[in-house]
Amino acid sequence: MKINKCFANLAQSYLFVDIARKVDAYKTAHPEADIIRLGIGDVTRPLVPPVVDAMVKASEEMGRAETFRGYEDELGYPFLREAIAGYYAQKGVKLALDEIFVSDGAKSDTGNILDLFEQDNTVLIPDPVFPAYVDANMMSCRPIEYINANKENGFLPLPNPGQKADIIYICSPNNPTGASYTKAQLAQWVDYANSMGAVILYDAAYEAFVQTPGAPRSIYEVPGAETCAIEICSLSKTAGFTGTRCGYTIVPKALRPEGADLNAMWRRRQTTKYNGLPYVVQRAAQAVFSPAGMAACQENIAYYRQNAGVISAALTEAGVWHTGGVDSPYIWLECPGGLDSWAFFDRLLGEAGIVGTPGVGFGRNGEGYFRLTAFGDAARTAEAATRLKDFLKAL
Ligand SMILES: *Cc1c(COP(=O)(O)O)cnc(C)c1O
Repeated sequence: MKINKCFANLAQSYLFVDIARKVDAYKTAHPEADIIRLGIGDVTRPLVPPVVDAMVKASEEMGRAETFRGYEDELGYPFLREAIAGYYAQKGVKLALDEIFVSDGAKSDTGNILDLFEQDNTVLIPDPVFPAYVDANMMSCRPIEYINANKENGFLPLPNPGQKADIIYICSPNNPTGASYTKAQLAQWVDYANSMGAVILYDAAYEAFVQTPGAPRSIYEVPGAETCAIEICSLSKTAGFTGTRCGYTIVPKALRPEGADLNAMWRRRQTTKYNGLPYVVQRAAQAVFSPAGMAACQENIAYYRQNAGVISAALTEAGVWHTGGVDSPYIWLECPGGLDSWAFFDRLLGEAGIVGTPGVGFGRNGEGYFRLTAFGDAARTAEAATRLKDFLKAL
């Protein structure tokens, strides 16, 4: 028996543990403190009524012999894949049903998809980054190259033609920075990947937050992406499915690096290691894509967007450089006064009673930056924005 030694290379993930420890210590010392949490990366608005209705109805079907469902297509019921194809058609992207793979979420697919690729591929990952991409590759000792996202490039790094890459992770709109690529910028990545024979793993988890006219909500809006990109998406942030679970991955049939049929390989992988999402959840997901479901989800997104606007306005008023908050629920700010991420965390908690996330927790380039999220309650977020302004003025 030999254990996977790659696990020893994983950095211990102390970020949220450290935050919780500091907040607990602060609460113990100041029991009267009214703390506002703008650090959460989880949604707070409940499931919308059309989704709840669909779940109730589907649950009842499961309880009747005539409509009971057992094992089904591992790749997703046709009714849900048709709904997803219809959603993409609205973005001007034409998908065949067998290019769509329903799953239990984007996080698992961003790691599972690596089953399709040899161990010794070079993986290109932007820094700062959603930590799961790094850890999933570390677990199999894949060589990782980082590409710098920083203030100079607006936290939207572009490919360096001299840098070799086989697998490229892109998340846009981005977590943690909230920055999102334009179509022209994404086209540079697509051209680079096609010329390099590389595959882009495109995480579109925040696509529903995009409101800027002409901004891409799928990488397939860029010509040529179908020959180099796999898109991984989720209803977690779109429809508040973080606890309900539903994602989907698009593997185009035109994606044939070295002549390999990645679509057929992913089907083989999923039918072997995965047995499908619950019927009840697939009906709930179908309801998300209905006109009533979409409208209701967009109301929740507008609620978060309003929060983002309130935070962003406070920062602008205080003259603090930041990105995100427009097409994203995340606001990424430069810590003023040359403070590092943790020093800013301590002062923001101690002097304003606000909890956020130190940027350095997402990578080296996050040092000196800080993430605030718009997923909180509107009144509390407004209160936080007022405190933030006072705090920044006094800093
Ligand atoms: C929240 C989030 C997801 C969604 O993951 P699920 O597993 O579908 O809940 C995916 N990618 C990023 C970058 C996220 O922040």
